[in-house]
Amino acid sequence: MRVVIAMMKHETNTFSPVPTDWRRFEEWGLYVGRAAARAYRGTAMPMGAYLELAEALGAEIVTPIAAEAMPSGPVAEATYERMAGAILAAVAAGCDAVLLDLHGAMVAEHVADGEGELLRRLRAIRPDLPIAVTCDLHANLTGAMVDNCTALIGYKTYPHVDMYQVGRQIGRIVLDAVEGKCRPVMAWGRIPLLSQTLRQGTDDEPMKSLIAATRAAEAAPGILAATLFGGFPLADIAAAGMSAIVVADGDRGAAEAARDPLLAAAWAARRDFIYDHEPLGQAVARAREMTDGPILLLDHADNVGSGGSEDVMTVLGEVIAQELEDVAVAAIWDPAAVAQMARAGVGAEVTLELGGKTDMPALGLAGAPLTVTGRVKVLSDGTWTVHGPMYTGVTVHMGPTAVLDTGRVEIVVVSRHHEPWDTGVFTSVGIQPARKRYLLLKSRIHYRAGFAPLAKATIPLDGEGVTTSDNRLLDYRNVRRPIFPLDRINEP
Ligand SMILES: [Zn+2]
Repeated sequence: MRVVIAMMKHETNTFSPVPTDWRRFEEWGLYVGRAAARAYRGTAMPMGAYLELAEALGAEIVTPIAAEAMPSGPVAEATYERMAGAILAAVAAGCDAVLLDLHGAMVAEHVADGEGELLRRLRAIRPDLPIAVTCDLHANLTGAMVDNCTALIGYKTYPHVDMYQVGRQIGRIVLDAVEGKCRPVMAWGRIPLLSQTLRQGTDDEPMKSLIAATRAAEAAPGILAATLFGGFPLADIAAAGMSAIVVADGDRGAAEAARDPLLAAAWAARRDFIYDHEPLGQAVARAREMTDGPILLLDHADNVGSGGSEDVMTVLGEVIAQELEDVAVAAIWDPAAVAQMARAGVGAEVTLELGGKTDMPALGLAGAPLTVTGRVKVLSDGTWTVHGPMYTGVTVHMGPTAVLDTGRVEIVVVSRHHEPWDTGVFTSVGIQPARKRYLLLKSRIHYRAGFAPLAKATIPLDGEGVTTSDNRLLDYRNVRRPIFPLDRINEP
């Protein structure tokens, strides 16, 4: 058996000013040919699970590409075509199955449905090609995606700590189908609900119960896989929003019957998917009264993991203005500031115009740096390996990295965008997060993977940025209407 295994992954925030080209993928992870298998074998990624399954079968494995970039703006046309072209060429050379590690919310400059278009082209080469697809919980599912694969599944956790299990589950279904052991059929649907990712954490309601119902549906006889997608609301495309898909063994009616209650329950919970705001100054003042740390402060409107530029200084500015003590910050993206600190050297005192290098035209905001003075505490190459539960085993490259110590605040400054979901962001530069009173994280939910076990309290801080949870700031033009909560469907 010859199996093509590939990864082509990006969560596209159409409001993000951060460009997504070939280099952007290289910054996080872009491997071609055998290097792709080497990079992901043994990792807790869908790609790692696929490799394990195919190797156990003694299959001939072809890995044309494994590419992932941190979320950002639409993928450049040439970059999309180069990645998709590598997968298409491998399939055109002949194979018995394709196992794909995708995201489900990729938008390219010329294609709104990045995954649907890839799968459509694959099926154009061979209409009966067995294709397994894993998607992120934040996929915006489309008919083109479902119609052009054999079986599709998404993560059931946010933070995403079940990537390996999900890859193993769907990979096995499709490889079983190749051997005639099962016959996957799918039913999918969506509801007009643009749920906010800040309200999609699977340890919280309403997702906790909805995911429990999804697992129960999956455990029923004849059902092979069931997924409820939270969707990615920061994509102004027709398909954005919540959806569900069920894979049954030969019985489409069973798949439809399992799908409908999941969608109905999500719709019934629609008001709980909206985030309630608290004024920034008030929330920081509330944090200031708390002394038993670590207290997590979330700068969630500038979350790299959803397309943030990681250099919006509003929240850090307020934390410094209110003189919070014993704070560690992860992270500020500012390669020029890192270079300035490297030139000054460890121990030197520097004054930086930190962050604020990126304009945000979608919000009508210009980048605004913050003047900070401190001592260069650490310089590093920013490379470390994840030991925590998310992206376990993957090597992280933050690029040249420096720590600025202002006395009250230690700021990790990086040269490549990186969402702090693992404590390695601090420990790799000598900061012990468990000993700090405050950890200011440019993250929304993924921080829980590494930091929830340490946290005495968590306070969301509503700053500025292209991952805002305030719909009034976003100019939606392409999403299908009506959609809740932009339109008050069935509301009194
Ligand atoms: Zn996600």
